[in-house]
Amino acid sequence: MRHLDIAPDLFPNLLSDIAAQAARLNMPCYLVGGFVRDLLLKTSVNDFDVVVVGDAIRLGNALVGEYGGKLTAHHKFHTAVWQPSNALESFDLITARSETYHHPGALPTVKPSSIEDDLRRRDFTVNAMAVRLDGEYFGALLDPLGGEHDLAQGVIRVLHSRSFVDDPTRIFRAARYEQRYGFHLAPETRALVNQESLGTLSTLSGERLRHEFDLIFEEEKAARMLSRLREFGVLDMFHLPEFNEACLPLLEDKPAPEFGIPENRILFGYLFWLMNLQTDSIASIARRLDFDAELKMAALAAAHLKMDLSALKISKPSAWTFYLEKFPLTSVYALWLATKESALGSFLVQWRHIKPAVTGNDLKARGIPAGPRYKEILTQLRAAWLDGEVKNLEEEKELLIALL
Ligand code: ATP
Repeated sequence: MRHLDIAPDLFPNLLSDIAAQAARLNMPCYLVGGFVRDLLLKTSVNDFDVVVVGDAIRLGNALVGEYGGKLTAHHKFHTAVWQPSNALESFDLITARSETYHHPGALPTVKPSSIEDDLRRRDFTVNAMAVRLDGEYFGALLDPLGGEHDLAQGVIRVLHSRSFVDDPTRIFRAARYEQRYGFHLAPETRALVNQESLGTLSTLSGERLRHEFDLIFEEEKAARMLSRLREFGVLDMFHLPEFNEACLPLLEDKPAPEFGIPENRILFGYLFWLMNLQTDSIASIARRLDFDAELKMAALAAAHLKMDLSALKISKPSAWTFYLEKFPLTSVYALWLATKESALGSFLVQWRHIKPAVTGNDLKARGIPAGPRYKEILTQLRAAWLDGEVKNLEEEKELLIALL
């Protein structure tokens, strides 16, 4: 049995607690999936999926009894999440299980089982390795499906020929791992991305599909992943466009704090991806992928603005400002990054903050009766500031008198 060296800095103390508790309960305990893959690849490890042969919920309760913290149990899947007190991270505790798919694309029925069965239910060989943690077995690598070999060869390989039909989200996962690590799909695996598995993919709910695209936008190589999905026929199936690779560096752009725009790689990913489409195409994509209201509105707004951009070009700052203020700031910001239109930058940095000194209270003090006139006057004053027709308080006052 091969033993892996696990550097102590990769191994939080709390994992030792979990392993010790599992040993006390006589439950073999493993780290599985991403941890083992990334450990062997020597890339950063940030995921701790703990699998026990026995009962993860019982282990979780024992951990809470011994070390405190909070347990959230999912009885249907025999899993639990342990949130230790005073720790930032939480731990997924999973009961080793087998899975049966009753019909393509359905969620599986699960049954506690051996670690070997648990590895067999996984997506790819490179994700189907385990390293044992409890007692004297610490560091033992379990690799019954040839994951280490495929990892060394840079190959993404499913474990059986029905894999993509059982769970077509694995088609997305294949593109993600392949492009993230610069690997390639085994030819037999590539051949399984076919009419049957794509047909099953088309039956998935919008929420499940969107989640897969969300995960892609979190990745550095998102453009290549989408282009791979295009080759697979996935993008065409949902009438989704190509992603312009030139937009990718824009995702690295973090909005400066003064913009008040939250950092949101996923949201901006969708905006750059869809902003060249017609708004009715975006509306139907938003329906199919179950966009939430914020994302839908921002994507439609970015496309709308993009179409109006050439008509706005010769406008005065006040016209730009009053028009742009109707749209979400995130959409204006995304369009600015994508087009470099300087008026959009001026709006974001400067124009939108320009307000007249006179307020409604001043108008009231001058005895102007309350009504729509207030808004008209204040808007005219603001436009004059924006367009440089008023440059100081004295000039503003003169204009106000002329307007009254
Ligand atoms: P990542 O770096 O992408 O987070 P990960 O391996 O940690 O990689 P997760 O999505 O957290 O990925 O899944 C953890 C493990 O669960 C995977 O390594 C894989 O073994 C298994 N898994 C996840 N999703 C599936 C799936 N759809 N089908 C089969 N096994 C899956």
